[in-house]
Amino acid sequence: MTYLDHNASSPLLPQARTAWLEAEDLFPGNPSSQHRVGARAEHALETARQRLAAILGCSPLDVIWTSGATEACTTTLHHAAAIAPHSHVCISAIEHPAVHASAHHFFPGRVRTLPVDSRGVADLDWLSEHLTDQRPALVALMAANNETGVLQPWQAARDLCAAREVPFFTDATQWCGRMKAEGLGTCELVAGSAHKFGGPRGTGFLAGRGVGSLQPLMHGGGQQRGHRAGTENVASILATVAALEWCEAQFAGGRHLALRTARDQVEHALLAALPASRVNGRGADRLWNTLSVVMPAADCRRRWVVKLDKAGFAVSTGSACSSGTEHPSPVLLAMGLLPAETARALRFSAGWLTPPEAWNDLLHALLRIHDEFAILPPEEESPTTGRF
Ligand code: PLP
Repeated sequence: MTYLDHNASSPLLPQARTAWLEAEDLFPGNPSSQHRVGARAEHALETARQRLAAILGCSPLDVIWTSGATEACTTTLHHAAAIAPHSHVCISAIEHPAVHASAHHFFPGRVRTLPVDSRGVADLDWLSEHLTDQRPALVALMAANNETGVLQPWQAARDLCAAREVPFFTDATQWCGRMKAEGLGTCELVAGSAHKFGGPRGTGFLAGRGVGSLQPLMHGGGQQRGHRAGTENVASILATVAALEWCEAQFAGGRHLALRTARDQVEHALLAALPASRVNGRGADRLWNTLSVVMPAADCRRRWVVKLDKAGFAVSTGSACSSGTEHPSPVLLAMGLLPAETARALRFSAGWLTPPEAWNDLLHALLRIHDEFAILPPEEESPTTGRF
């Protein structure tokens, strides 16, 4: 099976697996325990915090471990509402549900939307104008979009907000492990998730200067200096750091360049062979691993996914969270696509260990399946519904 769904979840890297197994053996204690076994676990955690802080460019005191990005995003919005309960929040139109739903939960009726252009890039002129006469409790702009891979101007948005003393949050879940993470720690808050970059599922982080005054979402034993209660998963945390360090080294070594070239060649070939198809985010800077395509009108995305699955390719119709639902993708709608077009969107996302040839194999499979669709009787071409 060729796995092209790394934006949904990326398989555990060997380096992360080794780190996890070693840590389970070496650090069996509870980091909060007073004995030496506990102290060794606490020391391992401290080391992991320092390693992550060094990657992000922040203080180790500005890092907390979470169960993933959803918790980190929810904690952020909960914190913003606790600090400025009557204020509003400004979030981009393409945020993941972890931010979008939390914003609407904690700021009911007080969420302003930062628009994106047709390439899916946030409109910073709009933000600048908005900040001239408004003071939101928080601005949230993700670093890279999970559906299209489009990179967002988070550094410029961070600086705009800093100049107006407005807290800025970036959900860097898809950026971390694919692009250099340096500087993310200079945002007020930044969220990440291990399973998107080959770490274990169920571990993530929230980091940045805002951590020091964070209002906790999880209450209990006072772990992590009272910012996030609950016994830390030491082995998963060490595996997370091992995975991220390995990914950073791959990026520094330019390993992504061959994968990006292979993706770009397939993109050009697909558009040439199927002129009615469309690449989402074309013309914008995108993650090297992601290709989001609206397939020609006669086709149906679910059938594509099933046919590709049978042909040996695991791909997605959009973000994992909206797969299997009938709702058009809010991300693609915000970019100006029609609901019918969003229903024909496919997302392909590679990982560091994907062989570059996999992109070309995918192209051949897509063209073969397209030819099969063309000869199907009309009644078989109606959209299927339901989960799979
Ligand atoms: N934010 C983005 C951009 C994502 O892509 C995802 C997962 O799809 C999340 C947040 C949620 O991450 P987690 O699975 O760690 O809760």
